[in-house]
Amino acid sequence: MSDFRSDTVTQPTAAMKRAMMDAPLGDDVFNDDPTVHRLQEMAAGMLGYEAALFAPSGTQTNLIALMTHCQRGDEAIVGQQWHTYRWEAGGMAVLGSIQPQPLEHQPDGTIALADIENAIKPDDPHFARTRLVVIENTTGGKPLPLKYMRDVQQLAQRRGLRCHIDGARLFNAAVALAHEDGGDPLATAKNMCHGYDSVSLCLSKGLGAPIGSLLLGSASFIGQARRLRKMLGGGMRQSGMLAAAGIHALEHHVHRLADDHAHARLLSEGLAEIIPNHPVLSGRLAVHADRTNIVFTDVDADLGQPLLAHLAANDVKVTAGDLRVQERLVKRIRWVMHLDVSGKDVEKALQVVNAFR
Ligand SMILES: *Cc1c(COP(=O)(O)O)cnc(C)c1O
Repeated sequence: MSDFRSDTVTQPTAAMKRAMMDAPLGDDVFNDDPTVHRLQEMAAGMLGYEAALFAPSGTQTNLIALMTHCQRGDEAIVGQQWHTYRWEAGGMAVLGSIQPQPLEHQPDGTIALADIENAIKPDDPHFARTRLVVIENTTGGKPLPLKYMRDVQQLAQRRGLRCHIDGARLFNAAVALAHEDGGDPLATAKNMCHGYDSVSLCLSKGLGAPIGSLLLGSASFIGQARRLRKMLGGGMRQSGMLAAAGIHALEHHVHRLADDHAHARLLSEGLAEIIPNHPVLSGRLAVHADRTNIVFTDVDADLGQPLLAHLAANDVKVTAGDLRVQERLVKRIRWVMHLDVSGKDVEKALQVVNAFR
């Protein structure tokens, strides 16, 4: 079976499980779990922050960040497709009384600087107080350029706003960009975060830990975030067992994200070869991939269900959704590469697509 549904499906490796079993433990709500401390210090050091906080999920680290930066009635500028706006059940509004100001995306996944600038409300009692800009990187599998990250941070600073990175897949972005300019992924990641007030990272995606996310920021920011984590039910006890998996992931699984990116290229380039000569899919399936671990295939709506059934019958697991692309209704199928998808799995998936009739 090949499971392309998400990079969250990875199983902890044997070495990771050993690290979890051997971890010294305390009680992290009493703030004395040595392994949680080690993970937090390690991650903060890697990305140039004073402090970090370990939490159960990326949804929670984002929500904690939003609620720490914004008070009731404040506004956060987000992208229409950002996870923080679209995929977190409206948490910032429901639990934070924060008004989201969603903005449309450019084709490269960024939000135009002018659109951010124009969305900032004047200090006037008619308006919510614009407080925060959120940037997601990678977004929809696209790594956002370092220059763009810098420009947004400077805009925020100039306009007196806070800025947060939803970096669920930040290391995918860093590995992809470093691959292009021959740089070091860790230096690139640190560079990407420079000047941002906070960043949220997922350990349980491509990095391969079973559970867990990190929020990074200043010592005082993380101090406030700790209270919110408790309020939201994210205070965990012998969580050093989970933190040990995170330490193992940061030590051993960052550079290997390049393998996932290579597998995504193998899939997208393989499809680009197959499709033009395919008896059914020719001209009816478009491939979108952008340097990291996610590939999208948009197939005409009438072929969506038959193709998905064919993939499922051949043990190829994917996720899919309906989408309108320039007035055309398509089924968008998402293929995500990760630790448990091999080059062989990709080859097999290509054969399965090729055999579709
Ligand atoms: C996965 C993801 C998150 C966090 O998701 P959880 O499942 O709650 O850990 C946040 N932002 C982005 C962009 C994501 O892809």
